[in-house]
Amino acid sequence: MSGFTSFSDFRSKSSTFEALQDQVAALAKGGFKKEDDKTKWKATSDKAGNGSAIIRFLPAPKGEDLPVVKIMTHNFQGPSGKWYIENCPTTINLPCPVCEANSELWNIKGDEDTVKANRKIASIRKRKTTFTANILVVKDPKNKAAEDVEGKVFRFDFGSKIMEKIVTAQSPSEDMKELGAVPIKVLDPKGLWEGANFILSFKEVNEQRTYDASSFGPVCPAADTDEKLEEIWLSEHPLAEIAAEDKFKSHEELLKKLNFVLNAPKSAAKEPAKNVPAEKEPENTEVAAEPQVKAKKAKAEPKEAEKFEKEETGPEEVTDDIEFYRGLQAKK
Ligand SMILES: [Zn+2]
Repeated sequence: MSGFTSFSDFRSKSSTFEALQDQVAALAKGGFKKEDDKTKWKATSDKAGNGSAIIRFLPAPKGEDLPVVKIMTHNFQGPSGKWYIENCPTTINLPCPVCEANSELWNIKGDEDTVKANRKIASIRKRKTTFTANILVVKDPKNKAAEDVEGKVFRFDFGSKIMEKIVTAQSPSEDMKELGAVPIKVLDPKGLWEGANFILSFKEVNEQRTYDASSFGPVCPAADTDEKLEEIWLSEHPLAEIAAEDKFKSHEELLKKLNFVLNAPKSAAKEPAKNVPAEKEPENTEVAAEPQVKAKKAKAEPKEAEKFEKEETGPEEVTDDIEFYRGLQAKK
C-alpha cells in the first residue's frame, strides 16, 4: 500500500477523478469493529428515529490508497432465535457457507409456494453492504457531546444509499450536468479544498432509516487554512486494517456457526437482547421451510454446537452489532 506519506506530496499528486472512481468501484475489502469503537461516529436520532448533522467525507488517510472500505455481512435469526452476525468472506473473494446455502435455497425446485418460501429465506439471509470512510463532523447539534465531536475526525459507517449519493455527486449524469450540476470531489484528495459538506438527514419509515433527504452543500474547503486541512488529514483513522483478512472467520468456523444458528433447539434459545429489532418477515415462514436447510446442512455434532455456544458473543455485543447494522441499512 503506497498512499501519500506527506501533506505536500498529497497535495501535489492528487489522483485523477477517473482513477478514484475506479478504485471506489473496485473496492473488495472492508470491515468494522464489534466493540464500542471510539473512532466511530454515529448520528444522533430523536425518539421518532429522525436526525440530522453536517459531516465532511475525507480522502484516503495518510499512507493508504483508498478513502472508503466496503464489507459485506450476514445478519439474521435462526428458527431458535439465535443470531448469525458475521462478515461475509466473499468480501475478500473467499467462499461463504451462508452464500452457498442461499444459492441452494434459491435453486430448490418445487411448487410455486415452496420456491417463494425458500427465496424469501435466502433474501432474509442475503449479504448486506457497509462502507466505512473518515469524516469530519462539522455540526452535530443533537448530540449531547456535540462540543467533543464537532471539528473532529471519525470513522463513519454507511450504506448503499449514501454511497449512491457520493457517486452521483462525484459523477453527475449528462442530464444533470446540462441542468447545471457540477461534479463534487467528495472522496478525491482535492476534496479537502474542492469537496463539499454533506447534510446528513434521516427519517425512520417502517422501521427503516431513509436518507433520501440528505444532500451535498456547495463546494468549499473543509477549513480556511492549509495548516488546518493538514491537521484534519493527519487526524484520519486507518481504514485498511479493518479490511484485513483476519476480520473474516474460516469457512469451517462459519459453517459451524450457521449450523448452530439454524439447528439450535428452541428450548435452548436465549431471550433476544433488548432493542434487537425483529425481522419484519413472519417467523413462521422461516420455521416452516427450515428443515430443508437442516437436511442439507446438518453436519454439526451436538457437542460442537454446545462448544460453540460457550464461545458465543454476549448479548450486549450482539445488540451493538444489530443497532450498528440497522443504522446502516438505507432504504433501498
Ligand atoms: Zn456470504
